[in-house]
Amino acid sequence: MTQSYLPSRIHVLAKPTGAICNLACSYCFFLAKQALYPSSRFRMSDEVLENYIRQLIKAHHSPQVTVAWQGGEPTLMGIDFYQRAIEIQEKYRKPGMTFENTMQTNGTLLNGEWCRFFKENNFLIGISIDGPRELHDAYRVDKKGEGTFDRVMQGLRMLQKHDVEYNVLTTVNRVNADYPLEVYRFLRDEAGTDWIQFIPVVERINEDGSTLYQKGETISNRSVQPEQLGSFLSRIFDEWVRNDVGKIFVQTFEASARRWLGMPSGMCVFEETCGTGLALEHNGDLYSCDHFVEPDYLLGNIIDEEISELAASDRQYRFGQNKRDLLPRVCRECDVLFACRGECPKNRFLATADCSQELNYLCEGWKAFFHHIDFPMQILAGLIRRGYPAAEIMRVLALEEAFERAGRNDPCPCDSGRKFKRCHGLRKITRKGR
Ligand code: SF4
Ligand code: SF4
Repeated sequence: MTQSYLPSRIHVLAKPTGAICNLACSYCFFLAKQALYPSSRFRMSDEVLENYIRQLIKAHHSPQVTVAWQGGEPTLMGIDFYQRAIEIQEKYRKPGMTFENTMQTNGTLLNGEWCRFFKENNFLIGISIDGPRELHDAYRVDKKGEGTFDRVMQGLRMLQKHDVEYNVLTTVNRVNADYPLEVYRFLRDEAGTDWIQFIPVVERINEDGSTLYQKGETISNRSVQPEQLGSFLSRIFDEWVRNDVGKIFVQTFEASARRWLGMPSGMCVFEETCGTGLALEHNGDLYSCDHFVEPDYLLGNIIDEEISELAASDRQYRFGQNKRDLLPRVCRECDVLFACRGECPKNRFLATADCSQELNYLCEGWKAFFHHIDFPMQILAGLIRRGYPAAEIMRVLALEEAFERAGRNDPCPCDSGRKFKRCHGLRKITRKGR
């Protein structure tokens, strides 16, 4: 064990109810994780809670600490649990330290009491919605198999009414991936959100038919197909880049823009290495990542060892570096490697042409998407580098398209007062004439 690898900021996703949820979304890989703890009550004890907060604070050398709650469904713990968590944060707070509590919820149990608590304690809430009713209800169902759209929308309206900070997480699955604009416009115009995270569903089927481990080369029929993902994101990007830059925050697009600017993307899947985002189970077991909650990636239990030791262990370091070190040659030679980085290792299970390495299942989709956005991203990055606001790209693209449409004798779209053929059209005509 060594301490030398501890980064200044680590991120721990805590699952106080383990995989337990009040719903039964068909594609949820978390639900299968109950099998890892056969006789558990799936409730985080006060002992684990206090150790978690104390150790998380100790492991931080930066003043801002994110305390992230996830599930299963974390609201099943009740408000008192999170009230205690806030008190413990105050108890161990270092001078100058601030906390941001985040929670990912299905939204169905939110009421006025929850929302007042979130508002008073500055929680950032992520709410899961897969699109308009028929798309959302395709997989997001309760234990009776009934759609949850109305209950989720009620939860969302409650958050909005109480002015709680929130964002929307939308999975991209086999069904809604064919309706990109319907999904995006619903989230923007009807749900009224301005912050959207898209997560592709990739479920691997294990030999016993379960989805418990990241093993097996077949995927479920709920999983998004690579070309679906590429076209889903590209079509939404086209709508966003012409209308919504600076107004609607789409995490994948923001991360891409940062890569075109040569900055860190802010999304682990597009980083060169991983290993700084760990997952804490209800009983104190700490895993390498939320996507690898399985025995091979169990680092230890925080009652026996400190989070800082486990996060800095050789094993965790190797887990993180493997993302880069095990990149197949096809990725290393890829023209969009700078943006994609081979995406998440959990999706790397396609045999490469020579069968010697593992390529990302979503490769085709990511490559198509990054190629599709290259031209506008180059313009966007150029504008930002020259000090213009990002939203300026919408005017540039509109002008570009007006030039494309303009006839020789039309007024030039640049408002010079000259005919197009005597102004910007001159270059176009000259270029074509060559
Ligand atoms: S394994 Fe995937 S989800 Fe986990 S940190 Fe790495 S890239 Fe992110
Ligand atoms: S687009 Fe495909 S080949 Fe390129 S880096 Fe991503 S996964 Fe690798």
